[in-house]
Amino acid sequence: MEQGVTPQGAVEGTGAVASGAGHAPRPSGAVDTRRRIPRTDTLLSDPRLVEAVGRLGPRVVKAAVRQAQEQARDGCIPPERVRDAALALLPGTAGGLRPVINATGVVLHTNLGRASLSAAARQAVLEAAGPTDVELDLHTGVRARRGRTAVKALCDRVPSAAAAHVVNNGAAALVLVATALAAGKEIVISRGEMVEIGDGFRLPDLLVSTGARLREVGTTNRTTAADYAAAIGPQTGFVLKVHPSNFRVTGFTRAADVGELAPLGVPVVSDIGSGLLAPHPLLPEEPDAETQLRSGASLVTASGDKLLGGPQCGLLLGDGELVRTVSRHPLARALRVDKLTLAALEATLTGPRTPTAAALAADPEQLMARAEELAKALSADGIDVRAVDSAATVGGGGAPGVTLPSAALSLPESCAAALRTGAVPVVGRLEAGRCLLDLRAVPPEDDERLAGAVRSAAGR
Ligand SMILES: *Cc1c(COP(=O)(O)O)cnc(C)c1O
Repeated sequence: MEQGVTPQGAVEGTGAVASGAGHAPRPSGAVDTRRRIPRTDTLLSDPRLVEAVGRLGPRVVKAAVRQAQEQARDGCIPPERVRDAALALLPGTAGGLRPVINATGVVLHTNLGRASLSAAARQAVLEAAGPTDVELDLHTGVRARRGRTAVKALCDRVPSAAAAHVVNNGAAALVLVATALAAGKEIVISRGEMVEIGDGFRLPDLLVSTGARLREVGTTNRTTAADYAAAIGPQTGFVLKVHPSNFRVTGFTRAADVGELAPLGVPVVSDIGSGLLAPHPLLPEEPDAETQLRSGASLVTASGDKLLGGPQCGLLLGDGELVRTVSRHPLARALRVDKLTLAALEATLTGPRTPTAAALAADPEQLMARAEELAKALSADGIDVRAVDSAATVGGGGAPGVTLPSAALSLPESCAAALRTGAVPVVGRLEAGRCLLDLRAVPPEDDERLAGAVRSAAGR
């Protein structure tokens, strides 16, 4: 690379170039160094940056150029390196989000965007990016129900759901149900299910914000069907069951299940959270939409980007009349999902196994075999690394308390920051003074990229 840097006439060719002097220049040399930093218009005429402007737009490229010039002004790089530095600083896309490798061992990590889309879902998003028939019947040429094929795919996967509706996320599904069925009325809910979903957002606050009143029943640890029955009256909008998806209460506990509440004569809405459509053998305590509806729930609400493994969205499934009421409410328009989400959701529902399902099903022995192979190759490069047993979790998306046996690369703790900020950012977790890169949520096809990132972080 070094020899590819050609000094640019008057700007850079100002005599002896102290190339390789990567240190801050002495004050006397600072002015000279600054003068040798290539000007913005000179840099932007470089064919590679011209190409980048066409691909990423001028704002993004100019920002990279300015950042590289800044680095030279600060003495972090010599002026001759500004051009290469600007090129290296160009992002892969014009969007600000960086793809990362999730080596946290948390399969659904909210800070990393929860579920990773399948290749089929990614392809569907790309194809839906232009004009699509999202709200048009191409045969008749007249307007059609938005997202009808995604809704059909959802109902096909959950036979007990007479109808379905899709909104922006799980919280939006709850807000819409509460508004449409209980504004000015009461939502009967157990004190044991007043959940904070994260980042300070609490479901009770969300529900009350719709104008519904909460009628709390039972206690933190125990609530019976009789508690609900005693609270039901003319003011009741619906009974809400919320799955404690991010915590567990154990010991002297009792909760009424949907089957006990269904005969109470009011709609029972079950917020299952995770988006499991059918029972999952590895997660026996995680509620699923089909079983909840079959047990008597009128409606189920769930997220699309948790265990379902799809895009961020909120699912509403169940009774045809209730789904219709909810989906025709004026607020439904404000919570409507875009075509990209519908495309990804449908491809998730109809397509091959999702990365989330694959991560859950990964065999611990195979994970260890991958870890050992990676550790062997990296050790050969002189890196302090070993393969270790690890315990992965599902994450905020569901199955609290469940650990999934896994395998990880164990590196010095000091690698963590370099791994996060490298060209291919890798997010691991710190444990007992080591940085662990857990392989459960890393698809095997990413192993090479992971190894490359570890080498860069270790300076090899
Ligand atoms: C995650 C979750 C929500 C919120 O869903 P989002 O899609 O994050 O808005 C609501 N209820 C339960 C039980 C959850 O697990």
